[in-house]
Amino acid sequence: MGEEKKATIKKIQATGQMRKIMADYFYELDAAARDDSQKVAWCTSVGPAELLLSLGFRVYYPENHGAMLGATRMATNCIPAANAIGYSPDICSYLTSDVGAYLRKETPLTRAYEGIEGLPKPDVLVFNTNQCRDVQDWLSWYSREFQVPIMGISSFRNIGKITDEVLEGIVQQIKDIIPPLEKISGNKFDIDRFREVVALSKKCSASWKKVLETNMSAPAPLSFFDATIHMGPAVVLRGSETAVEYYELLLKELEERAKNGVGAVEGEKFRLYWEGMPIWGKLRDMSEFFIGFNTAVIASTYCNSWIFEAFDPADPILSMARAYTEIFIVRDENFKEKYIEDIVKRFKLDGILFHDAKTCPNNSNNRYGMPERLEKRLNIPTVTINGDLNDLRCFSEEQAKTNIEAFIEQLETSR
Ligand code: SF4
Repeated sequence: MGEEKKATIKKIQATGQMRKIMADYFYELDAAARDDSQKVAWCTSVGPAELLLSLGFRVYYPENHGAMLGATRMATNCIPAANAIGYSPDICSYLTSDVGAYLRKETPLTRAYEGIEGLPKPDVLVFNTNQCRDVQDWLSWYSREFQVPIMGISSFRNIGKITDEVLEGIVQQIKDIIPPLEKISGNKFDIDRFREVVALSKKCSASWKKVLETNMSAPAPLSFFDATIHMGPAVVLRGSETAVEYYELLLKELEERAKNGVGAVEGEKFRLYWEGMPIWGKLRDMSEFFIGFNTAVIASTYCNSWIFEAFDPADPILSMARAYTEIFIVRDENFKEKYIEDIVKRFKLDGILFHDAKTCPNNSNNRYGMPERLEKRLNIPTVTINGDLNDLRCFSEEQAKTNIEAFIEQLETSR
């Protein structure tokens, strides 16, 4: 097989603008937390953020902080502090690294943003268990710590067809949290403001989808590893003009790359799907590793998780219920397999990498035979690597790289 070559990650020009809007977001949150007239809500990443924004809350996302702990490699040192108070090393390492970091009075925010001294203290904590139960346990810990209310939506899981009954159950739960949130925010719920926020989230989501779909071109202009970083505004700034403008800027740059045949990976030979969580502390290493083999990882479940097609300002509550139920993580195996099949075909992919993340069974879809079924169904190879989103003690880099090299060799011989 081809020798691994020296890798260069191509710079995305829009990165400077992304850093600026992310910094503005954290400074505004910090200011809101110090100002009694403003309220801060902590929300799970696919929770009812649009409702909170419409009520005037500044919204902070603990999972984004978890990813920062992973990317800065602070997580592994923080996890034992959460284990020591009873949170198992086997549960979500976003939860354990985040709670551990809090106990150790550490946060990447103080390192990245001068003047920020800690997390923005919440006035309320809001969850949606559509992704997992861990998020509720996680926010419950902070509810006890800060003595602030917690509320949220308990979702159905493992859903095939999304029925009216499922949606009604969620709509009712959304309606139930409006009165207590009005009380905490000091603002009356305004359906027109809510429609505006939902419309902005829809726009953000549509542009993010277009960004990801530029990778249908060959060579693909955006690697999965870069996309996980550029996804930040879709996670924390959806529902704002800022996010919409950012993705228009990024889209322009990537369309230009696609038009000029500029790929994220020089001499792109193979195109892969990444199924599962990123390994946050190893993004750069993994990116360079794949570039070295002229292999582009260009589609993923993870980055697609912030595409919410159902948002509809004409029916904001029902459409929000649908948008947060339609996502991949909530669905059954049949849906997931068809979803991956569709992407493999549309993006003309050569293989699928499954990341079995030790502490996130919810985002590890290799454990019940899916890779084998997809290999048969799509006639393409798959590879599984063992690792974790944040706990690098669960990731053997050498073993993963050996497996991936053998996988790329298999792709070469099957050509
Ligand atoms: S889905 Fe996985 S990574 Fe995300 S909060 Fe739940 S357990 Fe953690």
